[in-house]
Amino acid sequence: MELRYWLERGVEDFRAWTQSYADYAAHPAMAVEEGACAAAFEELTARLRGSYPFFHPCYAGQMLKPPHPVAVAGYLAAMLVNSNNHALDGGPATSAMEEEVVDRLAAMFGFEEHLGHLTSSGTQANLEALFVARESHPGKGVAVGVEGHYTHTRMCHLLGVQVHMVAADDRGRMDTAALERVLSTGTVGTVVATTGTTALGAVDPLHRIVPLARRHGARVHVDAAYGGFFALLADDEPPGALVTREAWQAIAHCDSVVIDPHKHGLQPYGCGAVIFRDPDIARFYRHDSPYTYFTSDRPHLGEISLECSRSGASAAALWLTLELLPLSRKGLGGVLAAGRRAALRWAGLIEESPHLELYQPPELDIVTYYPSCTPAALSRIGATSNDVMRRGMNAEEDPVFLSTARIGAADFTARHSDVIVDTGHAHILRSVLMKPESELYLERLHPRVEGLAKDSTRTPLEEWAHEYGIPRSPAG
Ligand SMILES: *Cc1c(COP(=O)(O)O)cnc(C)c1O
Repeated sequence: MELRYWLERGVEDFRAWTQSYADYAAHPAMAVEEGACAAAFEELTARLRGSYPFFHPCYAGQMLKPPHPVAVAGYLAAMLVNSNNHALDGGPATSAMEEEVVDRLAAMFGFEEHLGHLTSSGTQANLEALFVARESHPGKGVAVGVEGHYTHTRMCHLLGVQVHMVAADDRGRMDTAALERVLSTGTVGTVVATTGTTALGAVDPLHRIVPLARRHGARVHVDAAYGGFFALLADDEPPGALVTREAWQAIAHCDSVVIDPHKHGLQPYGCGAVIFRDPDIARFYRHDSPYTYFTSDRPHLGEISLECSRSGASAAALWLTLELLPLSRKGLGGVLAAGRRAALRWAGLIEESPHLELYQPPELDIVTYYPSCTPAALSRIGATSNDVMRRGMNAEEDPVFLSTARIGAADFTARHSDVIVDTGHAHILRSVLMKPESELYLERLHPRVEGLAKDSTRTPLEEWAHEYGIPRSPAG
């Protein structure tokens, strides 16, 4: 896939289409001078170099990576048209593509009947699910896991919905006993579960949450913004299965699900999705707009979404991507499997390393770890973790980009009872291995991070010896 070729093709095909209409004169008000354009463009690309190298596997930090070239080509081709998927009047061609990709996402989750649409983000998609939660169970609150995304609480505040926080178990998953206690108060209308938490990639036990919620008359919304596409791996047979299938299969029995194609779906930003199992929830969106919706009696996407203008190019980019990397184990599933295998392998290498400790076994492709310190006090773990991150990203040669997560003392000791608690919380290192290239790059990434950890955890005596070039004793 030669990106340059397809970008040019998109421009040419667009031009050919415009030429099928009558000639018209370009307006001088729109003219830009070539020289000025070159200078400004050069400044733009120079300034963009101030970004972190999200494209490279040495960037093993946050949930960031460039879109697939296919998505870029699809986006550009449609962006030249600049359709608006709010209404069929704004984007007849791309609205049809949106309906098709939403059908495919729904099928991936095992939803037969459904109603859904793309959104500009996972936050917006969850807002819509929380809005429907409020409308369908007026006066009732929402139960959210403590490891759930921070925007749930924020959006519930916006909606005037009460939030009940549910404790997590010692792997960061929603604790079902704690959920049962919250549900038994009778004040919960909807449970928000997360399959793939943002910090740890923990997968809530949806297969146990769904029957529990049903017993108490509550709905279930799944925030699969990050983890949703791992459903493609759920049919793998053990042994060798990369994810535990029950939670993913239980999504089919939930009331709504959110997924972010701009995270694991290879898309540029501006692409989330919300899907409801009951098409009847459309009634909560009912509104009238005197200045849109002209050309069709077919429902417009804007009639079932809270946003108004929304990029049709997002739908086109996702449509083209799914044509070439379909929602199957062999298609997009292969991309997710590589990151998952990388996480498993790195976790193994970390466990064997004398310089690193694994915080908890990864459930998806997010690895959490920290430098081995003596004494293993939280303050020192936090300081050395931050030191490793900073020195990694500031290195002139062979930089490596990691991120950190803040962990409370109680959560830490639930996993590592031997750490010395001398502060309320500590940062640990966190790497999201969402690029399949990470799998091969581990050969370089692991020794590099291990070396940084080794340097960050030197004792004062070792530091002194290092400064004067005195080799370490053979014992270590
Ligand atoms: C990223 C994320 C969100 C928020 O999605 P945005 O697209 O960043 O708005 C919500 N929930 C989870 C689990 C996420 O990982």
